[in-house]
Amino acid sequence: MKWNSLLQKTARKVSHKGGDRLKLLSVWGAHLMGQRYIGVFIDPILACNLRCQMCYFSDHAYRATLQGRLTAEDCDQFAANLFPHALRLQIGCGAEPSLAPDMVIRLIQLGRQYKVPFISVVTNGNLLTSDILQEAVTAGLNELILSLHGVRKETYESLMVGAKWERFISLLESLKKLNNPPAVRLNYTMNKDNIIELSALPDLIRDYPITTVQLRPIQKIGESAYQDFSMKPLLDVYDEIIEPTVRRLRTTGIEVFCPDKKKMSVTATPPRHLAKLFEEVTYYYLSPQSNGPGIVDFRKVSFLDYTRKIHLAKKLFHAILLEKNTLSVKALHTTKKLNY
Ligand code: SF4
Repeated sequence: MKWNSLLQKTARKVSHKGGDRLKLLSVWGAHLMGQRYIGVFIDPILACNLRCQMCYFSDHAYRATLQGRLTAEDCDQFAANLFPHALRLQIGCGAEPSLAPDMVIRLIQLGRQYKVPFISVVTNGNLLTSDILQEAVTAGLNELILSLHGVRKETYESLMVGAKWERFISLLESLKKLNNPPAVRLNYTMNKDNIIELSALPDLIRDYPITTVQLRPIQKIGESAYQDFSMKPLLDVYDEIIEPTVRRLRTTGIEVFCPDKKKMSVTATPPRHLAKLFEEVTYYYLSPQSNGPGIVDFRKVSFLDYTRKIHLAKKLFHAILLEKNTLSVKALHTTKKLNY
């Protein structure tokens, strides 16, 4: 078959050139074969019930620029144009989706309707009642990602301004009662104020159905009330607190993502050009203020028409075989991912 033999030839040519090129090659292959390869990331509403210290929602001026809510029609149109190509749908990205619970449920149902293999919701969980949770699971939710930035009530409520510890624990209890709970991932952003108590995390979650813990060092993602971004307090206790906690969690069967000490001490560098291109062609962010990359409106334009218009297959082929993998100097389109 024509595409298969072209793919095999190209694969042979690039196999010695490294990871970014191979990743692009797999995207190119999936694109030519009509397979799913994109992730769709949606904020159904640009608002949050909290003002976490480490988040841009703690910055009054920036918060004022975030507004709007998707309609049911927006969701239906986005779904029709993008979901048939999506490998993953993530609801909640840079804001709190549970402020629009009806749209969350609708998007999960649409994800199922278009057979998206993996659907997750990212939330602080404080507004998630057991009824909404059950509805989301019934609709087909695969994964719930919860923000947790303290293991003690005082730290949790101080860093996650407006959150209530009891509500978070009550959500964990609701998860425990579900017959078929989704995978549950906790996102813990480590900083100098919550790092010592991290060692109590395995005990806190021992009786709950947590499948994954992601430990991330604090990063500046915009203006925020929290101002200490130094890695030093984290590195100082890496061997004493972080590493043993990761080990304990792993012994209980929990998957843990955590940078090693060496990575944490190195200042982040911009991604290479091909890695950036990979992100550009696989990551699609939608919100009340973003209908697609640049001026593209995925409520009106199908994914295939868009890829034809930008000559995606040709662009990938050219990049895989000819372009240098230098450090990227600018993003090709802006993405927005919930970091905290
Ligand atoms: S980190 Fe998440 S929960 Fe906290 S203010 Fe930001 S969007 Fe809201």
